[in-house]
Amino acid sequence: MAATAWLRTEGASGETVRPTATAEPMNPMMPARVLALTCCLAAPVATSAEAVLPQLKAYETRESWRTPVAPFRIADNTWYIGTEGLSALLVTTPDGAVLVDGGMPQAADMLLAHMRRVGVAPSDVRLILPSHAHGDHAGPLAAVKRATGAKVVANAETAVLLARGGSDDIHYGDAILYPPVQVDRLVQDGEKVELGGITFTTHLTPAHTPGSTSWTWTDQRDGKPVRIAYVDSLSAPDYRLVDNPRFPGIVDAYRRGFAAVRALPCDLLIAPHPDGVGWTPAATEDRQPRPMSCSDYADRAERALDAALAEQRAGND
Ligand SMILES: [Zn+2]
Repeated sequence: MAATAWLRTEGASGETVRPTATAEPMNPMMPARVLALTCCLAAPVATSAEAVLPQLKAYETRESWRTPVAPFRIADNTWYIGTEGLSALLVTTPDGAVLVDGGMPQAADMLLAHMRRVGVAPSDVRLILPSHAHGDHAGPLAAVKRATGAKVVANAETAVLLARGGSDDIHYGDAILYPPVQVDRLVQDGEKVELGGITFTTHLTPAHTPGSTSWTWTDQRDGKPVRIAYVDSLSAPDYRLVDNPRFPGIVDAYRRGFAAVRALPCDLLIAPHPDGVGWTPAATEDRQPRPMSCSDYADRAERALDAALAEQRAGND
């Protein structure tokens, strides 16, 4: 007797049964692989008791990260053009402008509008300097690069993650994706990038990501030089710090990052999350009510890391 394979499917009534491609009669000489296939086709593949697969979810963030603030000056040539909760800086020079970080993917048009408001045509942006390749800071860089023709400068670790659009992240997997962007110039720790008389130094401050980068440059404020340190995130939000197979040296990397941050030239600290280093971009009277030093920032982050580490080690006992 021929064994006909049936595939049970879920129709509107939940009862639909329809034949699939005709299966061959069972044959004791049939190769095991074919037998296995026949076996699986004959079995029900779903029952009404199974849950519906979830909808895909977009990357949702708090409102302050998506609320633009009017651009404001933090030094003679350095403007804040980001949102209440995510930094994007624009540095103007006689030879064009430099964008430091961008924020969320949906911030691209806002950034271009803010550039125009401070007198910079998007086509005058020459360089894009990212901090780390997560979607809440590098999200709009592909679109801004397309709109401006600017060159993206980053180290190799960051370049790889930017090119993958945040996928296969050590900690987040594929949960936070953004339009991929290609890096045009790879830089090493300590390398300098110059434009229009302003020199930007790249500092590898591995912590929040293996390629985490801080940028320093000297601007003027109140007639005096001010050494600006744009220091990358130092947090480890729910990261696996103990026996992490994707990053066995993660804690040592954080320690190196903290030491590097303490050694930065740092008269004026700002960071991808401005509220984490004492800034309130939404306030119009006092943008920096709680100024913080680079050392204090590193010390505070190291205490938080040690606390998380102790908790994870205790949990592993
Ligand atoms: Zn991040």
